[in-house]
Amino acid sequence: MTNTYKLLTPGPLTTTDTVKQEMMVDRCTWDDDYKAVTQKIRRQLLELAQVSEDDYTAVLMQGSGTFGVESVFSSVIGDQDKVLICSNGAYGERMTQICDHAKIPYLHYAQTYDKVPDASHIAKLLAEDPSITHVAMVHSETTSGILNDIESVGRVVRQAGRTFIVDAMSSFGGVDIPVASWGIDFLISSANKCIQGVPGFSFIICRRDKLLASEGKARSLSLDLLDQWRGMEKDGKWRFTSPTHVVLAFSKALDELAQEGGIAARNHRYVQNNQMLIEKMERMGFSTYIDKVHQGPIITTFFYPDGVSFQFQEFYAYIKENGYAIYPGKLTKMDTFRIGNIGEIYPEDIEKLTSIIANFIEKKKENVA
Ligand SMILES: *Cc1c(COP(=O)(O)O)cnc(C)c1O
Repeated sequence: MTNTYKLLTPGPLTTTDTVKQEMMVDRCTWDDDYKAVTQKIRRQLLELAQVSEDDYTAVLMQGSGTFGVESVFSSVIGDQDKVLICSNGAYGERMTQICDHAKIPYLHYAQTYDKVPDASHIAKLLAEDPSITHVAMVHSETTSGILNDIESVGRVVRQAGRTFIVDAMSSFGGVDIPVASWGIDFLISSANKCIQGVPGFSFIICRRDKLLASEGKARSLSLDLLDQWRGMEKDGKWRFTSPTHVVLAFSKALDELAQEGGIAARNHRYVQNNQMLIEKMERMGFSTYIDKVHQGPIITTFFYPDGVSFQFQEFYAYIKENGYAIYPGKLTKMDTFRIGNIGEIYPEDIEKLTSIIANFIEKKKENVA
């Protein structure tokens, strides 16, 4: 069994062999040794979020990242509440779909995909509408790769006395997020992104008082955040069957993040990968959709270069044959593709990938000539 290609996608991503090996044992969900793993993970997550156990608590939730977002929305925003959703991509828009399904009242501030939602505009919307109780936003919008300014937004949300929900799915662990000092009340991320685990559960860092205040609001049984927390807080037992192998892999991934030097070191590696990628791609004639100021270190959206014409499928297949999987674009109106640089990826991978792309472009130019 060999790994035939590495993933340059925003998660699931390329994990270490040692993380994968953790999944070779079967664990009993109610045994103390397994429950202790869950508790260890919950403590480590609070450390990464730079919050104290007195003020914050971590909840793990079965399912992919969207399940975590849906759990928070459907559990903490009541029928009498209203959430302001600030979007600039597909994941922000997904929050409005969650609200439509669960009949959660919301106001949608839709920013264009290449711009960040503006904190002063959000302050104005909050001042105009006192019925808004919550504000929700994505940190790293994986649709484009833009990194939103949740610090500034957190400040205005706190000043206005509202609750701040952040989808930090593709940034937590890879970008420093001081959760308490940025005024974040609920932060959602998942096992298979920057912490470099495998897919199977999401996690939520919650302000304790706000979580407890959500009593009676949950619309779903399986996604009930407070109920999930109650069981877990007691002794680490998940309410329903937990993804045991995924949990073990995640525990190992957290230890490996610490060994690498924590978030600062991982961020440094991701930034280095990202800058090197963009520099080399620009030299070949590709340009980025997001400007340098707002481009995040996780994933990059590229336009195809002028003067060469090819289909994504052909481009993808050639790169895959040579050892890497990239991502299609997610912009509806423009022809783009995306390359992620998170996971077990190093400068030598970026070096290899960009020379594969250079070869492809050469071949295309020869065909034209
Ligand atoms: C990955 C991701 C999600 C969750 O997507 P799933 O497919 O449910 O894992 C949500 N928001 C953002 C910004 C993401 O990158």
